[in-house]
Amino acid sequence: MLPTKGYAAKSATQALEPFQFQRRDVGPNDILIHIDFCGVCHSDIHTVRNEWGGANYPLVPGHEIVGHITQVGKSVTKFKVGDLAGVGCLVDSCRKCHSCEMHLEQFCDKGATFTYNSPEKNMTTPTYGGYSSQVVVDQDFVLKISPKLDLAKVAPLLCAGITTYSPLKHWNVQKGEKVGVVGLGGLGHMAVKLAASMGAEVTMLSTSPSKEKDAKELGAHKFANTRDENTFKAYANYFDLIIDTISAAHDYNKYLSMLNIDGTMVLLGVPPTPAEVHAFSVIGRRRSLAGSLIGGLEETQEMLDYCAEKNITSDIEIIPISQINTAYERMIKGDVRYRFVIDMKSL
Ligand code: NAP
Ligand code: ZN
Ligand code: ZN
Repeated sequence: MLPTKGYAAKSATQALEPFQFQRRDVGPNDILIHIDFCGVCHSDIHTVRNEWGGANYPLVPGHEIVGHITQVGKSVTKFKVGDLAGVGCLVDSCRKCHSCEMHLEQFCDKGATFTYNSPEKNMTTPTYGGYSSQVVVDQDFVLKISPKLDLAKVAPLLCAGITTYSPLKHWNVQKGEKVGVVGLGGLGHMAVKLAASMGAEVTMLSTSPSKEKDAKELGAHKFANTRDENTFKAYANYFDLIIDTISAAHDYNKYLSMLNIDGTMVLLGVPPTPAEVHAFSVIGRRRSLAGSLIGGLEETQEMLDYCAEKNITSDIEIIPISQINTAYERMIKGDVRYRFVIDMKSL
C-alpha cells in the first residue's frame, strides 16, 4: 500500500482537514500520478455536505486532477514515467456493457467507478479524490495532457471542460446558433469559451451584473441579468440551446420560456432539491428539457486535444489547500473567477 497525504471531510458539517490514507499498490495496468494541481468543482461541495445523499466519510474530494507520472505497471503501454497525465470524474467501469462499448463509461450499466466517494472495483474500499498527493489509476482512465498549455489552467477541463463540451457537441451547436449559458462559475465560463469557439452567438444569463465585463472577455456576445424580470421578456423564444449550470434551486419554467421552437435546455447543475416543471413550459414551442453527465474517456481526450489546438484553458485562482474551506464559502456566494485550483505543493 502507498501512504498518501490528503484533505478530507469527516462529516457533512465539518470543515475539510488533513488526512492520511493508503492508495493501492501499482498493479500491472496501473499508473501512479504525482498530483500537481486539482480543480475545485461545486460537485465537491454538494458531495462533502451530503446534499445529494450517499456520502461516505472520511471523504477526499477532487476530480479535476493533473500531474505527472512517477511509476507505471508492467503492462502499461500508453504512458511512461515523466509524462503529464490527467484524471477526471471516472476511474473505472465494467468496459463490457452497451454504454461502455459506446464510449459512454459515465453511464456504465454496472455503475461507473467515480473518482471519489465510489466503491473501488474490489467493492471494499472507497475511492479517494484529488485533494491529495498522488493517485493510482488504471491506464484506460488516464488522459493525455498537452505540454503546450499551462498545467494549472488545464485541471478544470477534466470536469468543467468535458461537462460543457459534451452537450455542445451532442446537440450539434453550429455557427451562428443562439446559445444561452446560465450561471457564470466554473462550468459556465467553460461553456462560454467552448460555445464561442464553435462559432455560436453566446449570451451569458447571470445573476451577477458585476460579471458582465468578464463574460464578454470570455467570449460572450451578450449579457443579461436574470435578477431583472425584463430579461425573460426580452429573450422570450430566443435560444436554440440553453446550458444551465446553476448549483442551487431555481425556476426552470422561466428559463424554458426563452427557448425557440425545438430548442433544448440542458441541465448540468444539480440543485439538491427537485423542481416543478409545467407542461406548458415545453409543449408551447415543442421544447425539450434534457440533462448531460460529464463525458466518456474518448470524448474527454477529444476535448483536451481540441482545447490544446484552440489554446483554450480555464481562468483560475490558485489557492493553497489550507484555503479550501474559504473557497467553498466563496463559491456558494457565486464569488469565483472562475475556478479555484489547489496547488498540491501546499499539502
Ligand atoms: P460554481 O462554480 O459554483 O458556479 C455556479 C454558478 O451558478 C454561480 O457562479 C452563479 O453564477 C450561479 N448561481 C449560484 N447560486 C445561484 C442561485 N441561487 N441562483 C441563481 N444562480 C446561482 O459551480 P460549478 O462547479 O460550475 O457547478 C455548477 C453545478 O453543476 C453544480 O450543481 C455541480 O454539482 C454541477 N455539475 C454537474 C456536472 C454534470 O456532469 N452534469 C459536472 C460538474 C458539475 P452567476 O453569478 O453568474 O449567477
Ligand atoms: Zn465536477
Ligand atoms: Zn459498463
